[in-house]
Amino acid sequence: MERITYTATIERIVEHDVDTRSLFLRLPAKTAFTFTPGQFISVAIPLPNENRVRPYTIASSPGDDGPLEIVLDLVPGGAGSEYLFARTVGDRLNFTGPFGLFTLERPPDIETIFAAEATAIAPIRPMLHRALAQPSTVPLKLFHAARTRKELLYADEFQATARRYANFSYEPILAQPPAGWSGRSGTVMEHIRALFVDGDARRDRAFYLCGVGNGVIELRDLLRKAGYPRRAVQYERW
Ligand SMILES: Cc1cc2nc3c(=O)[nH]c(=O)nc-3n(C[C@H](O)[C@H](O)[C@H](O)COP(=O)(O)OP(=O)(O)OC[C@H]3O[C@@H](n4cnc5c(N)ncnc54)[C@H](O)[C@@H]3O)c2cc1C
Repeated sequence: MERITYTATIERIVEHDVDTRSLFLRLPAKTAFTFTPGQFISVAIPLPNENRVRPYTIASSPGDDGPLEIVLDLVPGGAGSEYLFARTVGDRLNFTGPFGLFTLERPPDIETIFAAEATAIAPIRPMLHRALAQPSTVPLKLFHAARTRKELLYADEFQATARRYANFSYEPILAQPPAGWSGRSGTVMEHIRALFVDGDARRDRAFYLCGVGNGVIELRDLLRKAGYPRRAVQYERW
């Protein structure tokens, strides 16, 4: 089947930090584009010596009226992310998609743990919206780890969600917390291990994990070796 290439206009840019920003991509009116929470788009990046394509996860939710949001890091020496950081409002981006099987299609019926580091919260955010789309008492827990408070993206939104839904808890984790920090400190791995591996014999829960590099694979392996079924541990490594 032929892939459709979409052309979107950058409507808005939000700087979360010097090296992290959201691009809001507006498709032409009446464009049919649907996706499942967790999916990504493949963005065409025309470099002088290469036509690069890089995946970026849709951080907004299907059914949101507004533009598609992608949230990205400026990767040192990364020509793709450098190109995207050089874009300004009004520029256009071509992409194909949506793609990806790291998705959550319907609210879970068993306790579900979401864990992400920094920008890798992108797929988890629309998953949570979907998970909370209908009233439920199934516990949903979000562990979001970062180096700094600014990297704890959407913290206000998650705090508000935790106040609104009794079955949702938000657990921000800072590697090296500043004085006065009341959240968790350390790594996602330490907390998941303590709470759901060493500290609890139950294995009837599901996990959605996302991160850059090997950490997410190590966490997946920890959970599988601890006896969680393979299909209960969904993950995506960037
Ligand atoms: C399914 C999928 C979804 C993704 N969604 C996002 C997203 O929503 N936002 C986003 O910022 N990136 C995302 N990425 C990563 C993104 O596609 C690019 O790899 C990243 O922007 C680097 O591309 P580059 O051309 O600048 O650098 P490259 O020259 O391709 O450098 C790649 C190096 O950068 C590392 N890297 C990849 N992503 C990051 C990151 N976010 N922060 C720090 N280092 C990184 C890689 O591990 C690798 O070592 C996703 C990757 C995958 C596989």
